[in-house]
Amino acid sequence: MHKPRKRFGQNFLHDAGIIQRIVQAVSPQPGQRIVEIGPGQGAITLPLLDACGKLEVVELDRDLIQPLADRAAGHGELIIHQQDVLKFDFTALAGEDRLRVVGNLPYNISTPLLFHLIRQAPVIRDMHFMLQKEVVERLSAAPGNGDYGRLSVIIQYHCKVDPLFRVKSGAFTPAPKVNSAVVRLTPWRQPPAALDRYTDLSRLVREAFSQRRKTLRNTLKPLLSVEHIEAAGVDPRARPETITLEQYVALANQLTRLEPDERL
Ligand code: SAM
Repeated sequence: MHKPRKRFGQNFLHDAGIIQRIVQAVSPQPGQRIVEIGPGQGAITLPLLDACGKLEVVELDRDLIQPLADRAAGHGELIIHQQDVLKFDFTALAGEDRLRVVGNLPYNISTPLLFHLIRQAPVIRDMHFMLQKEVVERLSAAPGNGDYGRLSVIIQYHCKVDPLFRVKSGAFTPAPKVNSAVVRLTPWRQPPAALDRYTDLSRLVREAFSQRRKTLRNTLKPLLSVEHIEAAGVDPRARPETITLEQYVALANQLTRLEPDERL
């Protein structure tokens, strides 16, 4: 019997109804390239494998690998990458077909993992993730909402965000202290706004939300003058949590114009 490891964020799903809803939301089809992050003891892995016949998984905990391979026997072709997903190269795996990525994620690494994945968004068709409910709220938050922040702007620049359903902590063993939710992230084929240089959006959003109660003229002082903020069509007296993704992109483009030669 495997003892769940806290340091690997191991909360195993046991609720058959929730497992079924996740698999239905993914709707796996034979021939698709599906990658599961953190298969654990196979709660989602086996139904996915039954539906599509072949699956690749990335699991860090060595002790889970052999039992998982044994459990998958007879369900289909399971390819196990025993690796840290934060270092996993999805782009190399993708080849011709874009990937469908699925996972009940280890919550302790969810934010760095989301950033790792969006850097590889061009090879990803969609992602279905179980996350802490508050993280899903931050991913999908609109301007003016208290949850709207750096994660919302950066993820929404890369993906369409669809929160799907909530999951109570009793669905897991052991039960986590937080509630959970399942979200679908679909990378845009065309970015939602014309951005000149991604590193400038990333810098600008980080700076803006470093002090979310202050006005943009104050938080952005190290990067843009009041005139530049106005030239982007943004009110310098606005607070960072009130302006839209398109306005962030316009501000980032001002920054690029100011420093055109900066290396990427
Ligand atoms: N999918 C299983 C389920 O639903 O019952 C397990 C989910 S559990 C929340 C997270 C899983 O991610 C665990 O199996 C854990 O060992 C694995 N994991 C944790 N950190 C990881 C990392 N850095 N890279 C890959 N897998 C990781």
